[in-house]
Amino acid sequence: MPVQITPEQEKLRAAARELAQGPVRDRAAEVDRTEQYPWDNVDRLKDAGFLGMTIPQAYGGKGANWLDAVLLIEEMSKECSVTGRIAVETNMGAISAIMAYGSEEQKKFAADMVLSGDKPAICITEPEAGSSAGDMTTRADMKGNRYVVNGTKHWITGGGVSRLHLIFAKVYDEAGEEQGIGGFLAVRDETPGLKIVKREPTMGLRGIPEAEISFEDMELPPSALVIPPRGLKKGFADLMNAYNSQRVGAGTVALGIAEGAYQLALDWSEERHQFGRPINEFQGLQWKLADMSIKLAAAQALIYKAAASGENGFPDMLMAAQAKIFTSENAIQVVNDALQFFGARGYSRNNPIERMARDVRMFTIGGGTAEVLRNVVAGSILGKKLPQTRDGYVGRD
Ligand SMILES: Cc1cc2nc3c(=O)[nH]c(=O)nc-3n(C[C@H](O)[C@H](O)[C@H](O)COP(=O)(O)OP(=O)(O)OC[C@H]3O[C@@H](n4cnc5c(N)ncnc54)[C@H](O)[C@@H]3O)c2cc1C
Repeated sequence: MPVQITPEQEKLRAAARELAQGPVRDRAAEVDRTEQYPWDNVDRLKDAGFLGMTIPQAYGGKGANWLDAVLLIEEMSKECSVTGRIAVETNMGAISAIMAYGSEEQKKFAADMVLSGDKPAICITEPEAGSSAGDMTTRADMKGNRYVVNGTKHWITGGGVSRLHLIFAKVYDEAGEEQGIGGFLAVRDETPGLKIVKREPTMGLRGIPEAEISFEDMELPPSALVIPPRGLKKGFADLMNAYNSQRVGAGTVALGIAEGAYQLALDWSEERHQFGRPINEFQGLQWKLADMSIKLAAAQALIYKAAASGENGFPDMLMAAQAKIFTSENAIQVVNDALQFFGARGYSRNNPIERMARDVRMFTIGGGTAEVLRNVVAGSILGKKLPQTRDGYVGRD
């Protein structure tokens, strides 16, 4: 059954499209060139009521669902992937985890921050623990009435612009016994010990910093614990559950970029003449357009279906993984094909296609690689958890 878009959702999509095709489109090249976070677009999203719209009304949001967020993200990403990612991370990811698992106080605090313009950062990946995130060595030791956090995270989206951080660490009790992985809230510039170490120079998506962040004897009160370890692995399972929304969001950015590139190629194929006729009269390009449109239709259907799925408040794990793999891989191909339509002009930095080709490449990596997500899909359809570690491996200290 295809997912039905309601009249209200059509209105939301139209409003998002108007904003995206206006000032957001106009700024996209500059955001890429200057590598500056687009605070003006944050204000535009805020003024339009798009920031934090999935936050429940009781906390000042709109109580929008994942499909609403997807429609917004898709429109923004057609014009500016960075603004699309801001729409993801102010509606999904860390904020959705906090709203699902946080205390009343934490929810109010985080909702206020997002609704006033903060894009929270989620801190999981470490230099030696990427795909095997459970091997993280960042630790939070209970000492007296405080947690003391030490460790290093890298590739943290928003590092240096985000204020609110949701940080995952292995939690140890007073006796030094490991309790599992927990998630903590900390605010940059208000939490001594949280340091932005350096910014990574990235291939694309240059308007949002990716940063290495260190925690040096960072002291947090027990009230900063959002996702308690609740026994080994349970806190991590909660995190992964919340991450299903982020995966759908990331897949949607890839979809939007590819749809934007496809439209540019389609328009150009009518405008550009060679051999005395529009280039879309050559069958070689017609079939390319046909294949691109099929990939986009299938990707959109999977994304919408994943967004509309799920119990316990988050999209279904299997559907989210299937949608992200398919969309991210096909979006790369579609943008690459779209670039080909422009010939030499597609290779120019004056052409938005060049930026889109760099931006779209990320989405088979961040938020769980396509390979690791295939393990999720396989584990789910086989009903078996497939061990990835060698026999005898007990994890890193
Ligand atoms: C732009 C960007 C933004 C990001 N933002 C964030 C963020 O905000 N917060 C955060 O915590 N992290 C973030 N990440 C990090 C991202 O989640 C990791 O890059 C990802 O989990 C992969 O880890 P890795 O880079 O260490 O690759 P590795 O784990 O070193 O993997 C290397 C290769 O091996 C493959 N591989 C590894 N294990 C398996 C396996 N079991 N089966 C098959 N193949 C395998 C991988 O798929 C990959 O191709 C971001 C990354 C990028 C690029």
